[in-house]
Amino acid sequence: MSIARAVLKANADLLGISRVRLNARTVKRSVGANHVIFTQLMDNKPIHRAYVTVHLDTAGRAYLIKNRAVPTALLPSPVGAFTITREQARQRALKALRGSGVQLAVLDERECWYPRGMKVLPSYRVRIHRTKLSTRGEWIVFVHAQRGTVLSKYDNLSARAIRARVFDPHPLARVEDWRVLAGPVGSSASVVRRALRPPEQAYRTVTLRDVSASGLLDGPRVSTRLTRNRVRVRDAFGTPASGAGFEEVMVYYHLSEAIRYLESLEFCGARRIFESAIAVNARGTRDDNSWYSPGLRTLTFGTGGIDDAEDGEMIVHELGHAIQDAICPDFGQSPEAAAMGEGFGDYLAASLFADKKPRALRTLVMSWDAFEVSELEPPRLRTVDEPLTYESFDHDPDADEHDNGRIWAAALWAVRGCYRRPSDADRAIIESHFQLDGFTTFARGARAILDADRNLYQGVRISRLKEVFRRRGIGPVD
Ligand SMILES: [Zn+2]
Repeated sequence: MSIARAVLKANADLLGISRVRLNARTVKRSVGANHVIFTQLMDNKPIHRAYVTVHLDTAGRAYLIKNRAVPTALLPSPVGAFTITREQARQRALKALRGSGVQLAVLDERECWYPRGMKVLPSYRVRIHRTKLSTRGEWIVFVHAQRGTVLSKYDNLSARAIRARVFDPHPLARVEDWRVLAGPVGSSASVVRRALRPPEQAYRTVTLRDVSASGLLDGPRVSTRLTRNRVRVRDAFGTPASGAGFEEVMVYYHLSEAIRYLESLEFCGARRIFESAIAVNARGTRDDNSWYSPGLRTLTFGTGGIDDAEDGEMIVHELGHAIQDAICPDFGQSPEAAAMGEGFGDYLAASLFADKKPRALRTLVMSWDAFEVSELEPPRLRTVDEPLTYESFDHDPDADEHDNGRIWAAALWAVRGCYRRPSDADRAIIESHFQLDGFTTFARGARAILDADRNLYQGVRISRLKEVFRRRGIGPVD
């Protein structure tokens, strides 16, 4: 800092800053150098964008000076320059951002100088938080401190909200009759029914929140950075399911929304489940397979058959694995824990989308993913309300954890039925994981749900919950 000052003093005439007041604001350190940033002041108020920076190598030698200071000759007299009050400036700034459905909150305001052309104008810099529907922005408005006019305004939030079309969760949810999506099978023996290109009504227009300014799908909760040939989204993004980037948009939207939902259940701040954005490969394999990698903490979706990422329930199912692993590392190391992993993912998908599907599809999951291969009508990969008990758990070492998982999913679905608000059930079920480990059992999982209900809701429905588990042969829970 002192070296930088000395350098500026020695070169003041050359730089034309001999009578300019500079305030050393910050020192930034990079690997090979230090960078000292000075803000120009007049009458103790900063001049907007008037900086001088001095760049020093690690030996303390200045190798670069950049000068954006306003020459003294151009500075106005500060005396009596600010004629409108702070409050008047706030009101002018708020007025400039109003609109229908808009909510505004002033964060702060300060006096400053605003260079325009050859003039430096007295101004108030007002920071305002603005929300409209689900879109938020942080605006900076400069108000002329004499005339009250708006000198400039811009949204300082680098993240953007972008409109996109998605399946929510899948095309069957929005068509009158799922059969309109089915076409003739032809000669293919491996397919039960052929999926037609979904009609316009199968899509829903949604907002992708917190998209990075680059247009790449990098947000605070989700990043599709592992995907090859990534899309850059723009406003009114209308990619059909067959188009490049649709899978990326789907995973970004559904994972972001699901994680926001967890946050709304108070798993946020110090209680947040994910430390950083989940990295996703939306088209990671040609196989009809998707997975969560506990080692890498990433999600991969396959494109075999119908792309897995075209079904929001498949996306949320995989998120279920990520949630469990984030709460108890390496969840699913025993056959029962593995089945609980699959059952929880199916439950979560069914619960999150229950109100978005026609009644007949409410307890069926991943109907679009399984559309061409499911022999059942309506098609589905699995069902979360089958009348299964622990009796039917297949203890064979080669047993399929997804099949066994149906028992756990059905138990969780019945637990959900004990709560007036489904979100209360979701909260208790997620909360229960915090006392489990990777080798857990159905019985311990059931007891953990009872404990979670006691801790969260004073256990008012304990007897009903016990009855659910008793009926399914899970326990003992007493
Ligand atoms: Zn799974």
